[in-house]
Formats: sequence, structure tokens, C-alpha cells
Amino acid sequence: MTPRPATVSDLAQSLQRYGIDKLYLSEKAHALLARKKPSREAAAPRKAVAQPVDQPFVKNYRKPSLEAVADKAERLRRLEEPLRKCQECRLHSGRTNLVYGVGNPDADLMFIGEGPGRDEDLKGEPFVGKAGQLLTDMIVKGMRLKREQVYIANVVKCRPPENRTPEADEMEACVPNLHRQVEIVEPKLIVTLGAVPARGFLREKTGITKLRGNWRWFGEIPVMPTLHPAYLLRNPPAKKDCWEDLKKAIAYLNGELDLERPGGGVSSLF
Ligand code: URA
Repeated sequence: MTPRPATVSDLAQSLQRYGIDKLYLSEKAHALLARKKPSREAAAPRKAVAQPVDQPFVKNYRKPSLEAVADKAERLRRLEEPLRKCQECRLHSGRTNLVYGVGNPDADLMFIGEGPGRDEDLKGEPFVGKAGQLLTDMIVKGMRLKREQVYIANVVKCRPPENRTPEADEMEACVPNLHRQVEIVEPKLIVTLGAVPARGFLREKTGITKLRGNWRWFGEIPVMPTLHPAYLLRNPPAKKDCWEDLKKAIAYLNGELDLERPGGGVSSLF
């Protein structure tokens, strides 16, 4: 049996063998041959992309000033350098890399987490594992900022063994480093993530479930405590609570909230 010709030119060649050198195609055949095969993407059913409608996002954000960024980056670098050899607490013995901080040194918004996990210890950068991906989503998809626009740091800069919670004396030893970072970055607003920074940085005794969503202060800087992304990964329904807290942070950054610091304005921290 003669195999079926595969294309129009195959067909023309095989017809020529039979002395047929002209082929008249019907209009319908022309139309069919002229029709382009749809590309894979075009053929695939479109996935619905969730576009948040009417969701608040950060519209007011400090424009980077090259001078301020360079000056603050250098001041942070000078503080970070000696910490690479720090032995102030027992956590230094498990350290692959110091996880000092990352992001815009002149950021309006600073996030404070607990301490590095395995991925962070290996890379020397905070929030790069699964919880870090969720934090990035909170920043990018929720607040509509870029991760590079914010500054991210932790209460302790070295990984606790087996990712255990940092102990009180470890936080005590390391928290002055965090204070200095805040002092240099001078964010307009801080968001703390989870129970550890609430205890170690804000010195709060209230549990995070009660504390979250309630404004606190670090000197003159308002602080919004919210849930830790690792907790949200284990309890996805709690994401909506975290979003409520972030909406308050967004409103403050956009100048839509007037916060009054209880007890007046003088900062005892700087
Ligand atoms: N969890 C934190 O609290 N900080 C990190 O850097 C990573 C995970």
C-alpha cells in the first residue's frame, strides 16, 4: 500500500510521478491550509489569575536616595563585618554563615523574624526557605512591593541547632545588633513575625495570638506584630489574620492612619 503523503509538497511530488503537475484546490481546502496551527500556549485553556480587586496595597514608599543607600549600606557593613567571628553566645558553634540582614538599607518597611534556619545558614541570607517564599509573597503579592525594597533581619543572626527557638540569653546577646540595624535603617514601620521577635525585640509577655494586630512601639517607630510565615504554612486559614495585620501596616505607610504613641513621644532607645 502506498503510504499517505505527509504534506502538501509531498502530495505535489507524488502526483508529479503520475504526470499531474497542477493541483486545483477548493476554496475550503485553501482556507484550511492557510490556517495556522495554534501555538501550545494559545491552545491551552487560560488559567484564571487571581487579581485582587479593591485590595489595599502600598502606594506611598520612600524613593531610594543613592546617597542614603550608600551611606547606610556602608554603616551596616561595618557592623556586620566583626560579627562574622562573633562568639558572644553558643549559637556561633553551629554557624556556617552569619545571617545578618538583607534588602534596602534605607527602607520604609522592615521585617523582623526569629533566626536563620538551614537554608538561611547555608546562604547567609534571611528568609530564603519555604517560609521565606511566603514572606516574599506577602511583600510582593500582598503589599505590592519588591522584596528588595524592604529590609529583613532576625533577632538572632546564627542558626539555632535543629531550628529550635532561640533561648533567652542568646537573644539577649544578639538583640543589640538588631537595635543597631534599626537605628541605621530608620524604617517608618516595623513588622515583627511570630512570637520570638515579640519577646526578644519588643519584650512583650503577651502571647502572639493576642498580641498580633495590635500596635506596639520601638522608640518612635510603630511596630505591627503579626504571625510567622512558618506558622502560616502549617495553618493556612490563619493567613487571613496576617493579611488583616498587613492591611494596618499598609494603611500606616500610605498615611491613612494617625497613630499616637501612648505616653508621649520621647524615645529612650536611640
Ligand atoms: N524564619 C525566620 O524567622 N527567619 C529566617 O530567616 C528564616 C526563617
